[in-house]
Amino acid sequence: MKELNIHNWTLEVDVKETYDQYKNAKWDLCDCIDCLNFFQAMKTTSSKLSDLFNSLGIIPSKCVHLSEFGPTENGLHLYMGCYHIVGRIKEGKSVDTSSWDEHNVAEVDNFSFVFSNDLIFVPGSMPLPVLQMDFSVEIPWVLKEPYGQ
Ligand SMILES: [Zn+2]
Repeated sequence: MKELNIHNWTLEVDVKETYDQYKNAKWDLCDCIDCLNFFQAMKTTSSKLSDLFNSLGIIPSKCVHLSEFGPTENGLHLYMGCYHIVGRIKEGKSVDTSSWDEHNVAEVDNFSFVFSNDLIFVPGSMPLPVLQMDFSVEIPWVLKEPYGQ
């Protein structure tokens, strides 16, 4: 386990195991067009955001649970979802999506996230302990196929 300090949290993360879980993902990725757009867009994130995912062992295009909330005023698409990480919150409060606010949410570029012990959609292959990163992000529509098909 590696100790990581992110925002108000100190996490203990098994980075290698987490990465192996994503690399060999034994879970089904949704193949609807909204999710495909997210997977494609998340293949090229900023270096700051890539650093965050790499430090945790997450492959962002292999997101197990996603919801898309349509185009925003600035023409981007709002997504919310979660990633699972092999590890635990050592210090800092578990924050779920219903209780996040400007003080307890972390941000890298326009990727906003919290860490939580409340787990949903955990892939069966993931060894415990597992913690969850809930996020929201606005990304462009990158597919050739138009939105809303
Ligand atoms: Zn989908």
